[in-house]
Amino acid sequence: MAVRSGEQFLEGLRDGREIWLEGERIADVTAHPKLTRMAHTLAGIYDLQVSPQYHDQMTFKSPTSGDAVALSYLVPESYEDLLRRRKALEIIAESSYGMLGRTPDYVNIQITAMRQAAHVYGRNEKMYADNLRAYHEYIREKDLCLTHAFGHPQVDRSVPISELPDPYVALGVVDTTSQGVIVRGAKLLATLAPFSDEIYAPVYRPLRAEAEEDQKYCISFAIPVDTPGLKFICRQSYDRGGSLYDYPLSGQYDEMDALAVFDDVLIPWERVFAYQDVELANYALQRVTLWRQYMQQVAVKNIAKLEFILGITHGIAEAIGINIYSHVQEKIAEIVDILETVRSYLRAAEADAGPYEGEGIWPAAEPWIAMRHWYPDAYVRVIWIVEQLAAGGLMLTPNEEDVKGPLAADIGKFYQGAAIDAPDRIRLFRLAWDLVGTQFGSRQALYERFFNGDVVQLRQRRYATYDYSRAKESVRNVMERLGDAGKSQR
Ligand SMILES: Cc1cc2nc3c(=O)[nH]c(=O)nc-3n(C[C@H](O)[C@H](O)[C@H](O)COP(=O)(O)OP(=O)(O)OC[C@H]3O[C@@H](n4cnc5c(N)ncnc54)[C@H](O)[C@@H]3O)c2cc1C
Repeated sequence: MAVRSGEQFLEGLRDGREIWLEGERIADVTAHPKLTRMAHTLAGIYDLQVSPQYHDQMTFKSPTSGDAVALSYLVPESYEDLLRRRKALEIIAESSYGMLGRTPDYVNIQITAMRQAAHVYGRNEKMYADNLRAYHEYIREKDLCLTHAFGHPQVDRSVPISELPDPYVALGVVDTTSQGVIVRGAKLLATLAPFSDEIYAPVYRPLRAEAEEDQKYCISFAIPVDTPGLKFICRQSYDRGGSLYDYPLSGQYDEMDALAVFDDVLIPWERVFAYQDVELANYALQRVTLWRQYMQQVAVKNIAKLEFILGITHGIAEAIGINIYSHVQEKIAEIVDILETVRSYLRAAEADAGPYEGEGIWPAAEPWIAMRHWYPDAYVRVIWIVEQLAAGGLMLTPNEEDVKGPLAADIGKFYQGAAIDAPDRIRLFRLAWDLVGTQFGSRQALYERFFNGDVVQLRQRRYATYDYSRAKESVRNVMERLGDAGKSQR
């Protein structure tokens, strides 16, 4: 079979990649105390694919090799295919309680969607479509894990990228050779980079077709993470290597984020998906709606996460006896409603799927757009409810050493709950604190707000591109009727 086990996945990460964390170059991300637990969490996800229990639900037969490959690489041809893919996504999301946004299925689905629309990228030069299809097949058969980085550094958002203090702050092409394209500059924000095999770097924003200097930024490609000249600068780790009793989420699910820095890196021609053709790249940005596919992973992850948060919140309410108050019941019901709303968006997008561009079918766009714009605020509300109900108990919580130390009797008395003993109550509240209050928790909230782009600008685009004809027609209609009514009264 082509799907990899966890051990094979870990072995792939020991390749001399240049990963920097807190001032140190990491020799082996699978063994470093601040990265190892996340590496092993991901390995556990790879192990699911090869386990007798889940193998069949997470794989399909490769159309080329006949091997079992991950369902996130499936080009969906029918509604049943979407449901099949959903099941695989659920197994992965539920294994981490929705705490990981960037399990490998996320970018796998993006590359699969690009492959579905490969002809768009190859409209003017067939080579780019061929490259995409070959790349999709390559990562599918090797069962690779990808990070992706769209944007450019937050240096000055008021000017075009060509006018930043250095022409290669943003990633651009320095030169081309018979072997490929040489690029320099940085890309953000590469979540999962230390644990990935490859990085995919697309064109992100529309470039100026009339500006010659923008052409060098028109480059889309994917290369191995250990390519010479490529390094990653990670943010601080939220897994400090401490007790899982104290930090049950930070200690297992810190998927890590990094800036990708390209120092004259050679991208082989066969790994280039777009170059220099600004007009086509801009068209592809609008037309190839990758999110129509990958939002299925997002919705499934959100459902797993909301179910987990609901369980925590409900548990807290029962633990300290506040579930008798009607406002508490109402707030917990609000989380239920948000959870069920996400489920409805998921089902609507799947049910209304159809042909769109190139191969296979695509989930419907409208449910995803609405969910994408609404969910960041909904998530903030959910977190606010957790804080409102758990209140001071969120932070006034002893740690594992306290619980096991000489004050155990006091702790047993003062930290017990209405229907729960002290060690379990503390465990529950520490879970809640890691979810909302630690660095890990803050990053979760930031993730939900920004991982999918900036909702402020997305909504501006929505305003500018929405088809208002039916809305306007209904007003015109009532005006005409009123006009008739007015006439008949005279
Ligand atoms: C936890 C996390 C994980 C992420 N993972 C990934 C990943 O794996 N891959 C990836 O590519 N990206 C990832 N992202 C990046 C994400 O796509 C960006 O954060 C998002 O697109 C916003 O870009 P920015 O952070 O550069 O903010 P900016 O673009 O700098 O925006 C900052 C503020 O300025 C405003 N602003 C900026 N420019 C404009 C403008 N032209 N018009 C109006 N307002 C403007 C914005 O509204 C915002 O309020 C991740 C982000 C987070 C927080």
